Amino acid sequence: LPRQVDVLVIGAGAAGMMCAIEAGKRGRSVLVIDHADAPGEKIRISGGGRCNFTNLGASPKNYLSENPRFAISALARYTQHDFIALVDRHRIAWHEKTLGQLFCDGSAKQIIAMLVDEMEQAGARLALSTSVEGLTHGEAGFTVRLSGGTVRCASLVLASGGKSIPKMGATGFAYEVAERFGLKVVPPRPALVPLTFAPDVLARLTPLAGIAVEEAVVGHGKTRFAEAVLFTHRGLSGPAVLQISSYWREGDEIIASLAPGIDVLAHLKAARARHGRQAVQTVLAEILPKRLAQAIVEAEGVKANLADCSDKVLARIDEAVNRWRLKPNGTEGWRTAEVTLGGIDTSSLDQQTMAVKSVPGLYAIGEAVDVTGWLGGYNFQWAWSSGWAAGKAA
Ligand code: FAD
Repeated sequence: LPRQVDVLVIGAGAAGMMCAIEAGKRGRSVLVIDHADAPGEKIRISGGGRCNFTNLGASPKNYLSENPRFAISALARYTQHDFIALVDRHRIAWHEKTLGQLFCDGSAKQIIAMLVDEMEQAGARLALSTSVEGLTHGEAGFTVRLSGGTVRCASLVLASGGKSIPKMGATGFAYEVAERFGLKVVPPRPALVPLTFAPDVLARLTPLAGIAVEEAVVGHGKTRFAEAVLFTHRGLSGPAVLQISSYWREGDEIIASLAPGIDVLAHLKAARARHGRQAVQTVLAEILPKRLAQAIVEAEGVKANLADCSDKVLARIDEAVNRWRLKPNGTEGWRTAEVTLGGIDTSSLDQQTMAVKSVPGLYAIGEAVDVTGWLGGYNFQWAWSSGWAAGKAA
């Protein structure tokens, strides 16, 4: 390890590598360290191995933060189009899957290789299997005791990510350092995570495991996501549920529409007028997966044919399909959460540079900061944008 560098980046993830590239291009001597034995492990597993590296529509409204305006500057200065241009320069083929989400045609490893290549070209060094054992701060900068030796630096960049997936080496390192320097940390919580339910509700959900409703809407308060819902052995998942998990809080209800845009009551009434002898579930199965239709009808205790169902009974079924109220009892937690909500409070940071205002030379970027994106490539875009912004300044 070098004894002295201009910029020491802790965490060779998406944000840390981006920062190292930009700082290196400016002629800074840069060292990136990571306790993992490979860089960008989360990139590697992201997007089912194809990395949803950005979103065509990424804008500040796709992010959660105690200060939603904080992300505006970095996202505007290094946009999805800048990252796409980088990917194109490296001749990595990509496609839009859905809702503006861009994925590699080949493998997420291409994105890692691209970043490592860019770091090399910019002269930034990478030290893997290296952990931080001590950290002091004085007039001349920072002295960081690493497992491989002590390094002094003028700028220290916290890029060690959030707490999600501890099995992959996620730690609360950035929060601990932030707190040591007196910064506020918005309590981290698992986000983009499947929701779980009390045993009585779960008992009704588990027989439906494996069913996907491709076009559902899941809402919490005024927030709504129109995407797929997946029934699992542990509860509910699928993009619409993961999205709403970032907004849900303990004790709150969520509302699901399993056939949005369809007036189920009108549909059932019309069917009753035409073929009264049909079973309710048969007609419902024209709109919903068959097993789901059956389960809803059974849960409502309806055994009669359509002709014997009152308007009130049909309205109850309509309600169960399109205004299904559920009270999760929790989430699957850090083990499966794709991101961390909360983190280093943005009021301590300069929105142009990601510099900690009260500690000259200290920076925080990526998931460690209280900026959390929706599902769909937004979290990587924040990592690229915030990493770039710090790289231009550190
Ligand atoms: P990370 O990428 O997590 O990097 C942090 C680095 O710091 C890691 O390499 C870690 O080893 C290292 N580190 C941590 N603690 C220490 C320590 N104490 N000492 C030394 N090193 C340390 N987002 C998208 O936009 N699109 C997707 O397709 C997508 N898919 C995902 C799939 C999964 C399964 C998961 C878990 C997440 C996914 N995300 C996706 C979210 C995305 O991976 C993160 O938002 C992003 O990686 C954050 O970048 P980062 O650089 O801030 O942190």
